[in-house]
This record gives sequence, C-alpha cells and structure tokens, in this order.
Amino acid sequence: MKVWLANPRGFCAGVDRAVKMVDELLTKSVDPVYVRHEIVHNRSVVDSLQARGAVFVEDVAQIPEGALAVISAHGAPPQVFHDAAARGLQLFDATCPLVSKVHLEVAAHAKAGRTVFLIGHRDHVEVLGTLGCYTNPDGGGIQVVQDPEEALTVRARDPAAVAYVTQTTLAVDAVRKVVSVLRQRFPALVGPHHDDICYATQNRQDAVRMLCRHCQLVLVIGAPHSSNSVRMVEVAQEAGVRARLIEAADALEPAWFDGIDDLGLTSSASAPEPLVQATLQRLRQWYPRLVVKTLGLAENKVFKLPTALVEMPDLHPTSRRSQRADLPDSTGAPR
Ligand code: SF4
Repeated sequence: MKVWLANPRGFCAGVDRAVKMVDELLTKSVDPVYVRHEIVHNRSVVDSLQARGAVFVEDVAQIPEGALAVISAHGAPPQVFHDAAARGLQLFDATCPLVSKVHLEVAAHAKAGRTVFLIGHRDHVEVLGTLGCYTNPDGGGIQVVQDPEEALTVRARDPAAVAYVTQTTLAVDAVRKVVSVLRQRFPALVGPHHDDICYATQNRQDAVRMLCRHCQLVLVIGAPHSSNSVRMVEVAQEAGVRARLIEAADALEPAWFDGIDDLGLTSSASAPEPLVQATLQRLRQWYPRLVVKTLGLAENKVFKLPTALVEMPDLHPTSRRSQRADLPDSTGAPR
C-alpha cells in the first residue's frame, strides 16, 4: 500500500501560537496557568499541557482572583475580558489574529447599525465569541445562519443595512451557497474585503482535494468537535472519496484498508504531527513495505507571540523547558 501524506497538514499558525503561549507561561511562571476553554480542540495537546500544570476551565469565574490566565485560540466575547479584568487576572489573549479580524468586522457593522448574518455553527465556541462582539443595542442585531435553508428565512430590521461574516473554519463552497441565498434576498449585503475563511482552513481543504485525486480512502486526524477537522472529512466525501476522522492511531482498524492501494493521510489545523507519525508507525506494523509519498507544499506562516510574554522574566527556579518533550512544535516534531 502507498500512503500519500498531505501538505500542508497539522498545526496552523494560530494554533501553534496559542499552544506556545501556554507552553511559555508554564515554563516561565511558578504559578498555575488557567486556560479558558480547550486551548485548541485536540485532546492530546490539552492532556499534555494539563500534565505540565495547565488548568482548563470554561468560565473565568472559576479562575482565582489575580491568577495567570489565557484565552483560547477560538477567542471570546468582550464580556469575558471585562470579567477577567474585574477579577484582576493577568490575562494573555491567544485568540487567533484571523478570528480577531472577524471580531473587528462585527464591531464595525454593529457601530454602523447593520444587521449581521454570522455564517457558522450555532454552538461552536468561536461563533459564541463572535456573536458577543455585537455590542450596539440600537443596531440591527446579529444572527447565526447555519445553511442555505436558514438563509431563506432570516430577517433584517432594515434590508438595506445588512452584512455577513463567517466562522473561520468552514468549507468555502458551503459558505458560497449561503452567501448566494443571502445576496438574492438582500442585494445590499456587505461582505468582508478578504474572505473570513482562514488560509489554513482553505489550504488544508485544498490538500484533501489533491489527495482525493490519488486515493481510494482519506484519513483525517483530528477531533470530532473540531470544526476544521470535520470539514476536511466532508470535503473528501464531496469529492466522492471515502474518508474517516480519527483522533489517534489506536482508532485504526485493519479491515478499513482491504482493497486500498492508495491511502491519503492528513491532519487538521489543531492536530499535532506526532499523531501522524504514530499513525504511520501503526500502518507499518500491518504493511511492512508501506511506501510513503508527500503531496503539496508546506506552509511557512508564523504569528508572533505577544511582546509581554516574550519579555516576561523566567521566574521558575529550574526552567521547565526540559519537560516539554511531549509537546509538538510548529513543525510537528516532538521537542
Ligand atoms: Fe487561526 Fe485558521 Fe488556525 Fe483557526 S484554523 S487558529 S482561524 S489560522
């Protein structure tokens, strides 16, 4: 059997930055590091940071006053930042800059009084954060639109003052269908200058399409509650190729590979590279003559860490850097 490894795959710049922020705080601080929500939607990353002392909570009210705290890559509504300030938290914001861009768009539309249609998944933590950025009580409000059917029924206070934004991790084609319905109903609809769907989501979905041209089965490593992971599976299925989402190598079943000569393997923006390598290792146990080839080009985008974190003194008596071997770095290689 031949395995085609997709490029790019795995950690995007936003996830890499968020994980490094928690990692750096754990390294430099002697105090516990609290993180609001899973820093990224991946169990192995969360478990590894938890093992080093990170404490994950869903509400800043669960964080002791004055403690060190981090906002996850998915972002949070302004109210969370107010609550954190009221508790005197030393807050580090790991919101991906591309999510922050959408927050700014919503704030600008709110200021202009427009009704905003937020295309995305109603319960996703990123969407909840973006909804909270509409803070003008006299504006036309914000509402989630999940699919073209919902786009047919949404209403606006003033149909001439409407805009849309999107969750960053959707599939491009699905968004186009929703926007097309909204535009037919609201010809004055205003959209972002540059698509809100992030570069990493688009590149990973394009890489899946490329795999589909060569493979009979595509494996996506990612979490079932990770939006970008689920979309990658859907992209393969829409291309007519069987696809499975797995969290780790132990989910593999030998029967999946009966009759498969070319297998596609990739990982979502929140899945670290060691999970890919462990999957290849498991496959090699079953197929000792496995051939591994790579398709596509790797990314080189990097989001800088906040200056306050870079300049923070290392207060730990013996640096904990040596304990980070189990955390993946930006290239996915174990440290
Ligand atoms: Fe940012 Fe995109 Fe990565 Fe989400 S998937 S953290 S929006 S770069």
